[in-house]
Order: sequence, then structure tokens, then C-alpha cells
Amino acid sequence: MTIKVLDPRTVSQIAAGEVVERPSSVVKELVENSLDAGATQISVEVGGGGVSLIRVVDNGEGILLGEVELAFKRHATSKLHSIGDLMSVSSLGFRGEALPSVAAVAQVEMVTCARGHLEGTRVGLEDGTVKQRGSQSRSVGTTVAVRHLFRKMPARLKFLKSPTTENSHIANVVGQYALAYPEVKFTLVVDGRTTLRTPGSGRLVDSVAQVYGLDIAQKMLPIEDSGWESGAAASSIIVTGMVGSPTVSRSSRSYLSFFVNRRWITSRSLAWAVEEAYHGLLMEGRHPVAVLNISLPSDLLDVNIHPTKAEVKFQQERAVFVAVQKAVRQTLVELMPVPMIEESAVAYRSPTAARPVVDGSPWSVGLFEPAPMSPAHAIKPTTSLPLLRVLGQVSSSYIAAEGPEGLYLIDQHAAHERVMWEKIGAQRQQHEIEVQGLLEPVTLEVSPRRNEALRANYEKLTELGFSIEPFGDRTYLVRAVPVLLHGKDWMGVLRELMDATPGEGGSDWLEKATISMACHSAVRAGQTLTESEMRELVRELEQTNVPHTCPHGRPTMIHLSSGQLRKQFGRE
Ligand code: ADP
Ligand code: MG
Repeated sequence: MTIKVLDPRTVSQIAAGEVVERPSSVVKELVENSLDAGATQISVEVGGGGVSLIRVVDNGEGILLGEVELAFKRHATSKLHSIGDLMSVSSLGFRGEALPSVAAVAQVEMVTCARGHLEGTRVGLEDGTVKQRGSQSRSVGTTVAVRHLFRKMPARLKFLKSPTTENSHIANVVGQYALAYPEVKFTLVVDGRTTLRTPGSGRLVDSVAQVYGLDIAQKMLPIEDSGWESGAAASSIIVTGMVGSPTVSRSSRSYLSFFVNRRWITSRSLAWAVEEAYHGLLMEGRHPVAVLNISLPSDLLDVNIHPTKAEVKFQQERAVFVAVQKAVRQTLVELMPVPMIEESAVAYRSPTAARPVVDGSPWSVGLFEPAPMSPAHAIKPTTSLPLLRVLGQVSSSYIAAEGPEGLYLIDQHAAHERVMWEKIGAQRQQHEIEVQGLLEPVTLEVSPRRNEALRANYEKLTELGFSIEPFGDRTYLVRAVPVLLHGKDWMGVLRELMDATPGEGGSDWLEKATISMACHSAVRAGQTLTESEMRELVRELEQTNVPHTCPHGRPTMIHLSSGQLRKQFGRE
């Protein structure tokens, strides 16, 4: 085969392929340029899924007259001068690739005006080369219009999805940057319709309200933490942002946003850190909502490891993971509200709803605003439960109790499950699960499938307080069970554990076992409790770390505040 050097046009199209995968990649690069230019207003307009038109208008610093054409040259950048700068880069762009790449795969027009200039410069490019130049009046800032994306690359065009799907990728990019930069006013117009508009107030909660809706915004908790104490490097990792209360959850991970020094990134390990922090608070298969920024010195970070800069490399990955997990967990435990009885149940609706607010600069630590709303709907940060006085049992399933803030209805099973879960967890950690020998060993015959599972998890069962020994083919003798399951349905626990996916081992399996044990040892719904049993349960619940939800993430109680009661009875 003959070796040939590719012609420059082919080279640039190949290179562009790395940066511009689909219309939303163009939007991302242009928005990043606007942010790097210090814009406080960025408007994005798209047509035909971004293929016919992408136009980004900003009020940033603009480009000097003599440099406009240079901006479209490969490796031309104003943000980096030498390789040394790469360690301290604080701009979103730095490779000088975006504009030439976009121009290689689409028709581009730019109008820009730098401060001090009376007129804007206009350039039009086709196939990466300048075809038109001129001047045009414009206020300070830059407009880039990209048309006919991939028109000359039918292979790429074929890979694109429907305009609706491409639009949703675009909306995601703009939405994420709107979350990262609450002080910037973003507008997104899709086929002539405004689909997003953020106020640029500098408050993250306002951006969340626009991007995810008021409903979610009202249930976001500001991260209280910041610096994490131990270790010099660790203390310079600062986590800010907001996380959703466990009452909001999603069926996918797409509501987890991460920014590192306000650069939007994807990271499986950070997603995992957040999910870990919600452990025991969300139902299985549900995912939290979180918007987190991690600030750290740029020399602890390599931003140059991914073609579209969508991933970064941390020098201290573990420390970042722990910082994120701790910050989120602490916020959840400290600020999680007791769920209120649905507002719709209240006859006299309050016009304003609770609204968590972050003060000061974007991303700064903030507290809930001290209720400019009816006391009925204020979300009260609670570390623990208030002291409760048991009034009685309802439907043999709920405990009615009175507290300083009104009436509480406690789900006896869910509450007891929480108590037991924490107890078993603590005993397990200290290897102190109490064991009760059975007077008569119980014979257990199992199916081949369950046999596998039982055999695989032998030792772990001992760790949990079960003493089981083989007794012939697929038959076992159970000699002892955990004390807290004695007289309860411990067979049910074993059955659930044997049905857990075979081979599914490690901490997941132990976790399932703990939940199953908590569930089977807890009082059932429908069980009548004496007054002292109810009091005991409430006391125990008060002492748990997270009294408001059961290990499956369901609430353990609901709350009808004194304010709501007054309203319901028309007293105010
Ligand atoms: P990079 O962002 O990596 O520097 P780009 O190709 O995206 O590379 O942009 C090249 C240069 O053009 C930038 O360094 C910047 O100086 C200038 N530029 C691009 N877009 C804008 C904009 N919206 N406002 C001001 N300057 C811009
Ligand atoms: Mg750029």
C-alpha cells in the first residue's frame, strides 16, 4: 500500500470529528467560549435539531478586529500560552480547536465587537476558509451562527437522531451550564419557542427552578459543608451546591450534575459517591437529584484528558470522592424535613410555598430562608425528632403522636424497620449480632438454585447470626438464628436471601440481608400495640440517625402542623 499524507481539508474534518460529534457539541463549545469571554447574557437559538441553525449570542468581551480570522485557525487560542499554563488553566477552552472544527463541518458566520470598537466585524466561512468579511453594527459581544451542520458529511448526518432527540441534548447542555453559572442569564429558543430562561440572579435555586422546575427546586437542600478537615490536600476540596431531599427521586441518573471548578463533567465515581450518600434513603432503582460543584486548586486536576473535555482526572480521586459523599450525607441528615401532609389536603391554600434559598454568591453556602410564608409550609431543618407524646394507635398500623409542632402520624412498621436497620448495622459492624440457639434444629430443604446461593453465602450468614450446617444433599440444619428474629419469620429472611441473585456477593448482599432482617423483625402493620410498646418505639426512633425514612426510602411519618390544623378548622 502506498503511504500518502492526507490533504489539509480531510485532516481538519477528521480532527473536527473528535470535537463535534453532534449539534449539542457545537452548542457546548460556543457556550463555553461565551462564558470564557465573561458574558453575563447568553442566548442560544436552534432550528431543525441544530442541523439547520445554531446561533449563540453573547455580551462577552468580543474579539479584537485584527484577530477575528485568527480565531478560526487551528490551535489559535487566547487562553493558553505554553504547556506550563495547562496546569493552571481556569478557562473552559484552551486548545484552540472549537471554532476551526465547527467551521470544518458547517457554514459559520461570526459578528463580534470588542470594547472600544465602534463597529463589529463580520466574517463568513465555508469549508473552513473565510469567504466573506465586512463590518456590521453590534454592541460589545459576539454572535456565532452555524448553519447546515454536517451537510458535506452524510455519514455523520446519518448518525444523528431525530430533531427532538438532538434538541433534548442541546437543552441538556444549556441547562447544565445554566446550573453551573447561576449569575449568567441564559435563554434557549428551539424552533422559535423559548424553552428555557434563567434570571441570572446568582442564586443556584433560581436556576434549578428554571431547569428542573419549581417542584424540584422547592425540595433542594443547600450543601452545608465545605472544606473537609483532615489532610492538607483534602481541606482544599470544597463542595458546594444543592441536593434533592429524598422525597424527590428520579428513575435515571440524568439529574446528577457535576462541575469541577465550574466545568461540566461526567464522572461515574462521583455519581457513585452521591448515591452512596443517599444509601438507605431512596427506594431501590431510584436516583437522587444533585447539582454539585467541586472547587479545588487547578494543579490537583488534569483537564486535558478527554477530547471534549467532558472528563477530568483528579490527582486525589479518593479524597474528592470522600469529600463529595460526606458533604451530601451531612446535608441530608441535617436538613431533611419531615414530610408534611400534602398541601392539597389543606382547605385554605397558602399562596406561597416553601422555598429554599442560597444566599450570596453563586454556589455559596446558604440556609433556608427564614419562612416568609405560612408556618404550615415552612420546611424546618431537623436534626432529630422533636419529643413526641403518644396519643394512640390508628388502624392498628399508625401511631398518632403530638409534638411541639403539631400532630405526627408514624407508620409503625416503617419506623420499626428504621430502628432495626440501624441496630443490626451497628451490631454487624462490631461483630456483635446476638445469637439464639434453637431448642430443636430446624431442617431446611432447598431447590438446586437456592442451594447455590446458600452455599455461596455460608460464612456471611454466620456473620449475621445464623448457624446453618449441611445435612445431606440440598438439606441443611438451622441450629441458631439472630436473637432479634427469634419467634419471627426468620425463614422468610433466609428465603429472600437465597433468592437474591446467585453470585451477587459482597457489601450489596450484606446490605440486602440487613434490610431483609430489619423488615422481618419489625412489627407489622395491623398489629395492635400497647401504649408502652408505642412509647418505646417512638423513643427508639428518636435515637436513630435518620428517623424520617425507612431503609427502603419510604417516610416513617407524616406531619400535620399546628398551622395546618388552624387553617383546616378555619381559625385563621
Ligand atoms: P479555545 O476556546 O480553546 O481558545 P476556540 O476555537 O473555541 O478555542 O476559540 C478560539 C479563540 O477565539 C478563543 O481563545 C477566544 O479568544 C476567541 N473567541 C471564541 N469565541 C469567542 C466569544 N464568544 N467571545 C470572545 N472571544 C471568543
Ligand atoms: Mg473554545
